[in-house]
Amino acid sequence: MKKYKVAKFGGTSLATPEALKEVISIIQSDEERKYIVVSAPGKRFKEDIKVTDLLYQLADEIIIGQKADTYELIKQRYLSLTENFKLSFSLEDLLDHILAEMIEEETVEFIVSRGEYITAIILADILGYAFVDAKELVRFRGSRVDYTQTQKIARKYLRDKENIVIPGFYGATLKGDLKLLSRGGADVTGALISAAVHAKMYENWTDQDGFLMCDPRIVEDPHLIDIMSYKELRALSFMGASVIHSDTFYPVAKAGIPINARNTFNREAKGTFIYDYVPASKGRHVVTGIAGLNDFTLVVIEKHLMDETSGFDRKVLLICEKFDIQVEHFPSGTDTFSLMIESRYLKDGKLDALIAQIKKLLKPDTVEVHENISLISIVGRNLMANKYNMLKLFSALVNTNITLRMIDYGSNGTNIVIGVDDIDYEYAINAVYNEFERDDE
Ligand code: ASP
Repeated sequence: MKKYKVAKFGGTSLATPEALKEVISIIQSDEERKYIVVSAPGKRFKEDIKVTDLLYQLADEIIIGQKADTYELIKQRYLSLTENFKLSFSLEDLLDHILAEMIEEETVEFIVSRGEYITAIILADILGYAFVDAKELVRFRGSRVDYTQTQKIARKYLRDKENIVIPGFYGATLKGDLKLLSRGGADVTGALISAAVHAKMYENWTDQDGFLMCDPRIVEDPHLIDIMSYKELRALSFMGASVIHSDTFYPVAKAGIPINARNTFNREAKGTFIYDYVPASKGRHVVTGIAGLNDFTLVVIEKHLMDETSGFDRKVLLICEKFDIQVEHFPSGTDTFSLMIESRYLKDGKLDALIAQIKKLLKPDTVEVHENISLISIVGRNLMANKYNMLKLFSALVNTNITLRMIDYGSNGTNIVIGVDDIDYEYAINAVYNEFERDDE
């Protein structure tokens, strides 16, 4: 069976008539782009409001029985979006009809999902593609996507269909109740459809050239990542790099489908490619990306002859579990066991309660607390391949006088996580970036 591409276009790619023209030309320039997934129109300029946000506002108005004032704004957005295009139907009539349905249905899910629904109908009409409603393809069980059922029904439904446009961001339960994915979830729809049709490639078109190595608010003009593995993408987005919706990985990674993140407004740029496996020889960078998160707390527990208390570590972790505290890392050494915890889990007296419980049950000699720690993940599939890289990494940090609070030498060979004081966070990222990247320029 021949494989095709799934192309998902984000909100900014569908915000203006000019952007829409680009999208159409991108789709038409490659015959393999047979499955198109869309978001609702995004912001046209910095202070603009996304159509999805307007729809949430409209849902509030409709549900509490106020006048549906926001409808006019939404209507104007769609009318101006399509002003340069000839549609085979009256968009105004369609929009008015949908408003009447919204007033009758009165659910947030129905009202908000109409953003992608209307966009998909418009794009399908302009392209001469078929519109397929996501409620026929994306199956929810309760409020969660049922991946297995979605694969089954979407694969069956799409088996003999090509050239179609699908609205992202929602699906339906078996009973037919509409459900929304979390914000930004049209990425996930694209991934689900890619897996269902065994796509050759999942293209994710936004207004960025691809994924940057670091946050550009921290590092000036960082390089673009040309290629990386799913594992690397996971390690980066887990540490807060806002790249792609995190639920996107599962369906495509499981099916081994590559992702290509590209820019609608600069299609000459090849973008970032993400593969299941990337051979060591591919890509010229040792460090693929650097990401981090602030505001962790390190709790260091010391007890003489800790080894002789059976299950000490397990007991500490059980106490955390009881308090519903997620532990990010637990560095340990002779007679010490530490917990690295996001500080938000320790608010409202939870830290004191945790320490009191540890003291009561495990009788440690000391429990020390270090607050305001940042974790930085240095991600690179080839980082461990050469011992010299470690030397480079640590000399970069030593040279800038940064105190290391923790090192987790990632055992899966993809990343190293270091802990530094929050005030050193940006220096540390710049130091590592400069050491590994600026030389390469
Ligand atoms: N339109 C939805 C949102 O704004 C979904 C998406 O764009 O992916 O979150």
